[in-house]
Amino acid sequence: GSVIGILGGGQLGRMLSVAAARLGYRTHILEPGANPPAADVAHAVTIAPYEDSAALEAFARSVDIVTYEFENIPTSALDLLEAYLPIHPNRRALSVSQDRLIEKSFLRDSGLATAPYAAVDDAVDLAEAIAEIGTPAILKTRRLGYDGKGQARLNAPGDADIALAAMGDNPAILEGFVEFSHEVSVIAARGLSGEVAAFDPGENVHEGGILRTTIVPARLTEAQRTDAILLAGKILNALQYVGVMGVELFVTAKGLIVNEIAPRVHNSGHWTQNGCAVDQFEQHIRAIAGWPLGDGSRHSDVLMENLIGDDIGRIPYIAQEANAAIHLYGKAEARPGRKMGHVNRITGRA
Ligand code: ATP
Ligand code: MG
Ligand code: MG
Repeated sequence: GSVIGILGGGQLGRMLSVAAARLGYRTHILEPGANPPAADVAHAVTIAPYEDSAALEAFARSVDIVTYEFENIPTSALDLLEAYLPIHPNRRALSVSQDRLIEKSFLRDSGLATAPYAAVDDAVDLAEAIAEIGTPAILKTRRLGYDGKGQARLNAPGDADIALAAMGDNPAILEGFVEFSHEVSVIAARGLSGEVAAFDPGENVHEGGILRTTIVPARLTEAQRTDAILLAGKILNALQYVGVMGVELFVTAKGLIVNEIAPRVHNSGHWTQNGCAVDQFEQHIRAIAGWPLGDGSRHSDVLMENLIGDDIGRIPYIAQEANAAIHLYGKAEARPGRKMGHVNRITGRA
């Protein structure tokens, strides 16, 4: 059978490997860090930095398709792999989502609403950006941020120096603070043939910059729900995308505003494991392997709760609940802020 290569061996790579196995594929994980969660379930694992060209070449020769669970893969590694094999989702999707400035201009050019933004490389840029956008605002590193890391809030123009210092020497982007009522995300997929399918939007609550819960159905009017799904489809088509994508949205009185896109399966899509016949992980494998897509329909209402750090200690109690599906990532050490697993509670039938 075919082998699917996955760059990144975290919990997303682990759950992708499980889905791939169910469809009869083997997976080969390439991951720089020791003891990756995906290693327990993958057929083969290579522990090597993305700069190790010999390891990358051996990996490329051992697999039939390459995908990833992590978008910050160095360009050099992608160049090397692409000489051997197709990478799904494609390079454009990666380059757009790796840099918040490029991402925002791509979204604007696609006709979608974003927070007001400006590039900030130094104190002069920041002063100009504040004059243009105002405060409150958020300064974010353009690259490599996740779980709210690499961000600084400016409540007033006087916060500029401290915020800029928090960026280190990294190029940044200033975003106007969006007064949203709540946050939702659309997990959508596009297949090799161009067909698009979306899951029902989920409503997300963050704590300390980290996703805490996702609830489906989200609080959306029928018009907002349609708008959310259509805009996700627009993004997928614009990128000629193949695979699953997460699109994070702010709900405001003036309409939906796109926060960011993730070119991979997404934490806010974990509810699909227990709310849909075909979940986001199977959907991604189907898309990249050229299969027909699941239609995304939802059979249950779900509350997904991330188990972060010490939350893992609650497992004995959660295990006694009715209708709580537990998903653990096999991580040995429960550090603060570390995603250890999640629980999908079925709260009703759709
Ligand atoms: P992720 O882990 O989702 O990749 P991230 O580090 O890339 O997170 P963002 O999604 O940009 O960070 O921001 C994290 C959270 O901070 C958002 O979900 C939202 O709650 C809040 N936030 C970010 N940007 C803005 C904004 N411009 N206005 C208001 N709130 C914002
Ligand atoms: Mg992000
Ligand atoms: Mg985000």
